[in-house]
Amino acid sequence: MLEEKLKIDKISKGSVIDHIDAGYALTILNLTGIDESKNLMTIGVNVSSKKYTTKDIIKIENVFLNETQMQQISILSPNATISLIENYKVIEKKKVKLPQIIKKLILCINQTCISNSDEPIDTEFLVLEEKPLKIQCVYCERIYKLEEIVFTSKEKKEKKVIQRINL
Ligand SMILES: [Zn+2]
Repeated sequence: MLEEKLKIDKISKGSVIDHIDAGYALTILNLTGIDESKNLMTIGVNVSSKKYTTKDIIKIENVFLNETQMQQISILSPNATISLIENYKVIEKKKVKLPQIIKKLILCINQTCISNSDEPIDTEFLVLEEKPLKIQCVYCERIYKLEEIVFTSKEKKEKKVIQRINL
């Protein structure tokens, strides 16, 4: 335990995502868009852990992850735990859980899928396999692997950027 603490400094305020599957920290940061944050982040990759031989860990200072981000992390790394820290103390700790059906969070990139039509239909994916992750769109039945996931929150942001450029 002591050794682990020395490797990654404690933060006074912010979020700690722990027990991430080894090697997935950067994927999580990238797919959730957390990597666009301007806050200080400490990332530990392949940190030795008692529970799972090695793990990744992410500490983000001064930011409390929101519900959507926690749900996204549950999809990318179902073993992860998220702690919110204030004054060096854990004020909230959550163990994320992968749902069997993922609604609204993920986009189907198949342009002919009904979820991409003008109909107001929320996306829905069935979790076929947890590890390695495999999900299937319930509408067009297209299957996605973890690396292919596009979160809806990211699309919204990109749209905003495009709007700004157009102005
Ligand atoms: Zn689809």
